[in-house]
Amino acid sequence: MADPLLEVRDLHVNFDTYEGTHEVLDGVDMTVEKGETVALVGETGCGKSVTGKTIMGTLPRPPGEIVSGEIRYDGTDVLADQAVHDRVQRERMSMIFQDPMTYLSPVFTIESMMRDVVKYHDRETVTWRDLLSEFLQRSGEEDDDIRKRSVDLLRRLQIPDPEGILDRYPVELSGGMRQRVLIAMALINQPEFLIADEPTTALDVTVQDQILKLLKERTENDDLTMLYITHNLGVARKIADKIYVMYAGSIAESGPTETLFDAPLHPYTRGLLDSIPKLTGFESEGIDGSIPNYTDPPSGCRFHPRCPAYMEGTCDGVNPEPFDVDDDHEVACYLYEDEPSTSEAMEIADTEIQYRRPQRAKARRDGGGDENGD
Ligand code: SF4
Repeated sequence: MADPLLEVRDLHVNFDTYEGTHEVLDGVDMTVEKGETVALVGETGCGKSVTGKTIMGTLPRPPGEIVSGEIRYDGTDVLADQAVHDRVQRERMSMIFQDPMTYLSPVFTIESMMRDVVKYHDRETVTWRDLLSEFLQRSGEEDDDIRKRSVDLLRRLQIPDPEGILDRYPVELSGGMRQRVLIAMALINQPEFLIADEPTTALDVTVQDQILKLLKERTENDDLTMLYITHNLGVARKIADKIYVMYAGSIAESGPTETLFDAPLHPYTRGLLDSIPKLTGFESEGIDGSIPNYTDPPSGCRFHPRCPAYMEGTCDGVNPEPFDVDDDHEVACYLYEDEPSTSEAMEIADTEIQYRRPQRAKARRDGGGDENGD
C-alpha cells in the first residue's frame, strides 16, 4: 500500500453564530493515499465542504473554529503551524470551488487571471510594487507559454473557441463555462493534491463526463491525488477508488468503491442508494427527515432520528466508533459492533434495514407514524 498523503484524525470544527455554536464537524477521520482518488459523499449540509476547506486551510475563522483534531499532510501536522499550512497549500494543493462567480474577478479577463495563477500561486504575498515591476519586466515569451498552456487546458475541458475565451470577462461566460475555467485554473500548475468540491454540478451530463475523464486521466498520468466532494453517488462510483460517506459531520461508512456498492451496510448509505431515481418504475424509498440542527444535534448517533434500524437505549447514547467489517471497510453503526464478516453483516443489514423499510413506507402511506415514533 502507498504512503498516506493525507490523514485526518478526529477533526472537530464549530461555527459561532448569533444562533449559538454549530458543532459542524464531529470527529472526521479520513486517509488518502498518494495517487488515490477518494470521494466524500453525503447530502447537502452534512459538512463535506467544511472538511475540504479545513484541509485546504481556507476555513473562514471566525466564525469557523478548529476545536480539535489533526490533519497530517505528507507526514506534517499542518494544523500545528498556520505558516506551514499556508506554504503546503500554496505549493502543493489546489481546490476547485462550487461557485465560480465568487472566485472569478469580474474586472479581469480570463487570460489575465490564468497568468496571475501561474505566476503568483506560490507567493505568500503579492504587493502592487511586485505587480508593477512584473508588468515592466514582462517577457512576451513567458506570456506566450502561459497562453499556450491555457488554451491547451481549456480545449481539453471542452471549451469552444479557447483562444477567444481568454480575452473575455467572466460575466460574458455561461455558468458551465465559468466552472470549466475554474477547473483549468486549479489544474494549470499541476498540483500534487486537488480538492474538487462538486466541480461538475453546474454542467450538463455530457460535459460532466468529459471532465470526469480529464480528472481521471490527470490522476493516472500526473500523479495527482484527489479528494472529490459530491452528493452524487453515481459520479463517485465513476471517479473514486475509495468512498467516505459522511453524515452530519462524521464518517458513517468508508471502503473501496466497489465494496461500498456491493455491500452497503450503514442505514444512511442504504438510504442514499435507495434515493437514486430508478428507471424501473418502482417508487424510490429515500430517507425520511433532514440533516439535524447543528446547534443542538441529536445525542449518540446523529442519524438516529431518521434511522429505520434505530435501537432505543443504544443508538441515542454515545456516537458509535467505526467498526471493521472487512479490509478497509468500516461502518460507524451499532448493528456491526461485533465486527461480523461481510456476509454476516449483509444479513444483518438486509434484516434490520431493508426488512423495516416496507413497514415504514406503508405506515407513511397510511398516514400514521412507524415503530420509531416518527
Ligand atoms: Fe441507526 Fe443506530 Fe446504526 Fe445509528 S447506530 S445508524 S441509529 S442503527
